[in-house]
Amino acid sequence: MKIFSTILLALIQPITSLAHTGEIQNFTCPICDEEFKAEQDLSGTALDTRLDFKQIGPIAQPWKLPQCPKCKFVIYDENLSPEKIKELKTFVYSDKYTQIDHKNTPYFYFSQIQLFNKEEPFDVAFILLSASWEAEEDPELYEKYVKMTIASFKSAQESLRKDNSMEEEYFVAIYLQIELNRRLSDFDKSIELARKLLKSDTGVVPRLYKAVDLQIKLCEAKDSGPHNLSELDETND
Ligand SMILES: [Zn+2]
Repeated sequence: MKIFSTILLALIQPITSLAHTGEIQNFTCPICDEEFKAEQDLSGTALDTRLDFKQIGPIAQPWKLPQCPKCKFVIYDENLSPEKIKELKTFVYSDKYTQIDHKNTPYFYFSQIQLFNKEEPFDVAFILLSASWEAEEDPELYEKYVKMTIASFKSAQESLRKDNSMEEEYFVAIYLQIELNRRLSDFDKSIELARKLLKSDTGVVPRLYKAVDLQIKLCEAKDSGPHNLSELDETND
């Protein structure tokens, strides 16, 4: 739930100032033992947050993941147990993983690893959302990742519905489907989900309910472009 906590913090915390910093680090792939160097992000400053929760400003979004150039494994955890590495090896050398087109981004590869690890759809959806940010310069890939993200949040929504303690996650899973359908110009779907969500107002994350109102306005104006959460403060309601 690390990504989700970061988002909630971004919604309530004032901005602290630091420019984006990064450095080249050395890695050893736990799967094929390849040694490689990769740039890692160390810090950054979010000046605003986009409606899809991408932070805007001198900050890397998403933070880079080291990916082995040889076997394409993504080092998402530097303390994997020998048993886990053995298990992951079977997946990384499987047809399913080796046949992934290399034009895919590190977070996409990571999402496939987490599906193999049977992680929750809610967490996989955030990884796919990060992949969509990596693919923003490639419209075809962006659309593919956004569609996969929507599908994953939909499946998360269905499993979270039964769990009352997960109210915020349930809300966010629907909210992001509203935003992402709008980005794909499926305004009808987006409005339908937005109205449904407003009807079931449970008082969680009030600022996001304002974001839902904004989503409806944007959809009515057939606006599929990126917008920021700061726009909520420009309206007087
Ligand atoms: Zn490797």
